[in-house]
Amino acid sequence: MAMSERGGTPTPASVEGAGQLLQLIRTGHARTVTQVAAAMGVARSTTLQRLEHLQHLDLVRSELRTEGSRGRPAAVLTFHPRAGVVLAAHLGLTGARAAATDLDGQVLADRFVTVDVAQGPRALLDLLQRTFDELAHEAGGTVVGLGVGTPSTFELKAYARGHGLSALDWDRDHFRDVLAEHHQVPVLLDLDVNMLALAEHRASWPDAEVLVCVKAGTLIDASVVVHGVPVRGANRLAGELGHIKVVGADDPCACGSAGCLDAVASGSALVRQMVAAGHQVDHVSQVVQRAEDGDPEAAHLVRRSGRRIGEVLSSVVNLLNPAGISMWGYLTESESLLAGVRESLYQTALPGSSEHLRLAPTSLGPLAGVRGAALSVIDAVLEPRAVEQTIRTRSWSVAGRQ
Ligand SMILES: [Zn+2]
Repeated sequence: MAMSERGGTPTPASVEGAGQLLQLIRTGHARTVTQVAAAMGVARSTTLQRLEHLQHLDLVRSELRTEGSRGRPAAVLTFHPRAGVVLAAHLGLTGARAAATDLDGQVLADRFVTVDVAQGPRALLDLLQRTFDELAHEAGGTVVGLGVGTPSTFELKAYARGHGLSALDWDRDHFRDVLAEHHQVPVLLDLDVNMLALAEHRASWPDAEVLVCVKAGTLIDASVVVHGVPVRGANRLAGELGHIKVVGADDPCACGSAGCLDAVASGSALVRQMVAAGHQVDHVSQVVQRAEDGDPEAAHLVRRSGRRIGEVLSSVVNLLNPAGISMWGYLTESESLLAGVRESLYQTALPGSSEHLRLAPTSLGPLAGVRGAALSVIDAVLEPRAVEQTIRTRSWSVAGRQ
């Protein structure tokens, strides 16, 4: 969003270091001009110049506070999270959760809208744009960036196959460009599982050097978070846990191969297995419900899925030695599934790697995806180089395109 012309032309010397200054204040490492100047090793006058740019963006506010019972009030610098609004969405195959958050990731407004990816990207874009416009209006303030977590290529392929469609036309770059053009802000697109993993790491596992996050729903997907950043891979295909082969399986998979974990242990595989056994189910949530209600066949199939997921995860554990495995999705609502995963994981993984491994269902609710999408935008927009670019260009920026 273009900014006002107030504030004079930023000179290179006064802008450089403004991003780092914001970091010091955001993280609480410095609270006064004197502390900032000392931390950055620069004069007060330089600090004040840099500060002026941040105050112009309303990212930093200064208020007089009296510390303790005596003494003169001093100007305390604080980060102002309402300086901007982030629009975020977690796009699924049949529904999307969208939200507006502040720059701390606090949700200001949110809603769930029904979508159908089979209607094509144009219809989806229209719906998302309308929803984002409403949320921006509701939240008020300047929109600084937009993030969307999307299904993976394999999810789209499987959905197309399940609905008798040849393929789903899904050009992510085009999708991002259209949203950026409409809202005039940086747009970040990533796999939903990466955005969920980011939120999970930030909320529940901040000290984990390596965290593996598994989405076990209609399909199986994963994200590996290393030092707080989801690993995307050379072709952005990291985390395709669902396409690791299972010993002894040869069921055809949506990826074109056979014997993949997805083909034998995912929610859609479970639905197929239940139907083949003569039961009337059409969604994984019904299979899980039956297992939880004590249906022995459903419980057996769900537990077997869990064991197969655990078997594949044991290789991941041996390779990466993660601090934990966090799981989401319909399947994780079943105790039988988690028991199956634990059973084979702890049996198969190297004892040293799995000894202190914590396997837990997510503690984040239905807003996890949008929180992750918002966090990735906030990280990108408030990254020091991005902040300085925003000051120079007078337009909200991210450093480098995703
Ligand atoms: Zn596959």
